[in-house]
Amino acid sequence: MPSFDFDLFVIGGGSGGVRSARVAASLGKKVGIAEEYRYGGTCVIRGCVPKKLFVYASQYSEHFEDAAGFGWTVGESSFDWKKLIEAKDKEIARLEGLYRKGLDNAKADIFDTRAELVDAHTVKLLKTGQTVTVETIVVATGGRPNLHAALPGHELCISSNEAFHLEELPKSILIAGGGYIAVEFANIFHGLGVETTLIYRGAEILSRFDQDLRKGLHEAMEEKGIRILCHDIIQSVEKVGSGLGVRTKNDKALTVDTVMLALGRTPNTENLGLQAAGVAVNDQGAIVVDEYSRTSVPNIYALGDVTDRVQLTPVAIHEAMCFIETVYKNNPTRPDHELIPTAVFSQPEIGTVGLTEEEAAKRYPELEVYRAQFRPMKATLSGRAEKMIMKLIVNAADRKVIGAHILGHDAGEMAQLLGIPIKAGCTKDDFDRTMAVHPTASEELVTMYSPSYRIRNGERV
Ligand SMILES: Cc1cc2nc3c(=O)[nH]c(=O)nc-3n(C[C@H](O)[C@H](O)[C@H](O)COP(=O)(O)OP(=O)(O)OC[C@H]3O[C@@H](n4cnc5c(N)ncnc54)[C@H](O)[C@@H]3O)c2cc1C
Repeated sequence: MPSFDFDLFVIGGGSGGVRSARVAASLGKKVGIAEEYRYGGTCVIRGCVPKKLFVYASQYSEHFEDAAGFGWTVGESSFDWKKLIEAKDKEIARLEGLYRKGLDNAKADIFDTRAELVDAHTVKLLKTGQTVTVETIVVATGGRPNLHAALPGHELCISSNEAFHLEELPKSILIAGGGYIAVEFANIFHGLGVETTLIYRGAEILSRFDQDLRKGLHEAMEEKGIRILCHDIIQSVEKVGSGLGVRTKNDKALTVDTVMLALGRTPNTENLGLQAAGVAVNDQGAIVVDEYSRTSVPNIYALGDVTDRVQLTPVAIHEAMCFIETVYKNNPTRPDHELIPTAVFSQPEIGTVGLTEEEAAKRYPELEVYRAQFRPMKATLSGRAEKMIMKLIVNAADRKVIGAHILGHDAGEMAQLLGIPIKAGCTKDDFDRTMAVHPTASEELVTMYSPSYRIRNGERV
């Protein structure tokens, strides 16, 4: 047996990398981990966490308005962007510290440097030029915003990375993209008082979500004053005075302070030494893995966003835990990518698990669709024109609930809980037998007794 400097070396200190390194080290393995930017990775430093803090900040404008309906007089309010950034940065630094501490406590060796593969068993640490030999390698280098280099003027635009560190809050912003990052930021900026336009090439925002919710969210965002341009793309961006002039394919001309591109993410696989080590990547540059997250080289694994399976933090962490089971616990475990509950932190929020109505209709001959659309109780006194949508998709043959979709306050929290019965294979009858919690919005989920409509062979009846 050759002897190596490390049992495991992890490249990338994000959600998946830190989890694999920390747990392997706590099992007594000799572990090294390298991070080129900041521990915590995208999720903690410039993704989920700061984004959610921004969502909270942006909701206060509506809270202040809604308060009047409940008898409150709120004095003049103002918003200080620099104060928010400062508070957010402090919290992120605290979390980064916790990630480091977890690794340190588990006795992993922490390297603050970019790392690259030299061959299948050698990693180079760029800061010092040191090379280390390694038995098993995990590549968890994540992804980065696609900069859309073909767009004239793309260098004048920002991505979500920069959105977390803008010196000033812009007065107006154009956001390109129809995915959840674009939609969430459109709501954040609008809530903070920025004149916001969203431009998306498709027919409707959020392409992989239930059509009903996509439409409902689109309408709600427009009602708030967010301008949405579908079927259109940015064709060029140029400097105009202190702002930016934008031309679109449909020949619209816009002048805005800031243009943000949220047009997908690119896996971080360039110059990583993958070729030298013999690790295969696909056409998009993502690392190809088998069902156990093993790459084309048997001792090299890859997990998280760099493999472009499902780009979510809990998925990267789950893949890391499966890697630990497989490699260090003699218990081969495949990551389970079925029925992943997820949320869009738009305003109103989307929470979803399982098949959309459209997907389910393609897969099953007959569906029952239970749908409720109503004004949430809080909106009665606040006077806010706001509708909540709840939908359960049921396979008529065995009554299993195969999809749940919610638009409205706390939809993400509900999706997490709905993920359990749906993963467990509960039927609509199980939902019906469950007592309601009153008065809540989610009680609708257990009180929709007859189907709103059926889908038979793809046709609504
Ligand atoms: C704006 C935004 C909002 C998001 N919101 C959510 C959300 O609400 N919920 C959710 O579940 N997911 C969300 N995500 C997705 C989530 O952040 C990712 O799925 C998750 O971080 C992936 O984890 P990872 O370990 O694969 O990679 P990452 O967390 O990206 O970590 C990879 C790390 O590797 C480092 N690295 C890269 N190359 C090297 C190298 N050669 N040497 C050393 N280090 C290297 C990088 O600096 C990075 O820190 C969001 C993402 C973004 C961008």
